[in-house]
Amino acid sequence: MPATLLKGKDVADALNAKMSADIEALKAKGVVPTLAILRVGERPDDISYEKGATKRAEGVGAAVKNVILPADVSQDALLQSVRDLNGDKSVHGVLIFRPLPKHLDEDAVRRALDPAKDVDGITDGSLAGVFAGTEQGYPPCTAQACVEILDYYKIDCKGKRAVVVGRSLVVGKPAAMLLTGKNATVTICHTRTVDMPSVVKNAEIVVVAAGKAGAVTGEYLSPGQTVIDVGINMTDEGKLTGDVRFDEAEPVVAAITPVPGGVGTVTTSVLISHVVDAAKKSL
Ligand code: NAD
Repeated sequence: MPATLLKGKDVADALNAKMSADIEALKAKGVVPTLAILRVGERPDDISYEKGATKRAEGVGAAVKNVILPADVSQDALLQSVRDLNGDKSVHGVLIFRPLPKHLDEDAVRRALDPAKDVDGITDGSLAGVFAGTEQGYPPCTAQACVEILDYYKIDCKGKRAVVVGRSLVVGKPAAMLLTGKNATVTICHTRTVDMPSVVKNAEIVVVAAGKAGAVTGEYLSPGQTVIDVGINMTDEGKLTGDVRFDEAEPVVAAITPVPGGVGTVTTSVLISHVVDAAKKSL
């Protein structure tokens, strides 16, 4: 039997419906949840994500404030913009596009952001919150999107063997912590893992964030598994593809997220839900 498709749109729709109700309640109290998007330069990827996030935010009744700085902005001017947004009471969350142009010190910019407004989970405060399991800051949106998908499709993590492929601070490590928080027994695989196919094959839940098309083939997979494919890669033919060989996985596993239409579809809704939460906390 082919695998169940874990469609991101259904998860995003459910998150959006919940948010719309929360936003109405906030508006009744005179608060419009507002995301500030801070972009340096004109990178097409950033502009495309900005358009998507703006559409998603406005679709549920939240507002977006765009702050666009020239690609040659000075470090001081950029830090001042971040501090201004920290102090702006009408702004509840801030998204800063990265990577920044090479002449800028990204770490200093990250550290300047108030974790209470760090809706994209880039500050040390947010990561500490994820690792300590506290309410400080917000988890990186993609990592949270993985567990939102599991929750929506009622895939219980308790006591399950979960493997996360990839150990970046943006996806792999926080996803592993969030799965641990849901009582899974978690193993993180990376480029130095020995005999990765047998480690992954033994898992019941597999989250793949390797950043390499086809990093996980049929050889890694076994019947009954739930596979969350975080990867977004562009083929030579200009098609989007994940990190998992979908054609080899789908006939074997129990459930899998498609690419496109899986994790990426949920990420922006998670981002806006963080803005709504920050707005609630600001009351
Ligand atoms: P990254 O390059 O920072 O990290 C990749 C990690 O995978 C590293 O820890 C590396 O050691 C490990 N790795 C690489 N190849 C491997 C292999 N063959 N076997 C085992 N481990 C391997 O990437 P990232 O920022 O964590 O992103 C991962 C993927 O997720 C990328 O494809 C990225 O485009 C995608 N992504 C998707 C979303 C979304 O919304 N869906 C958001 C962010 C990133």
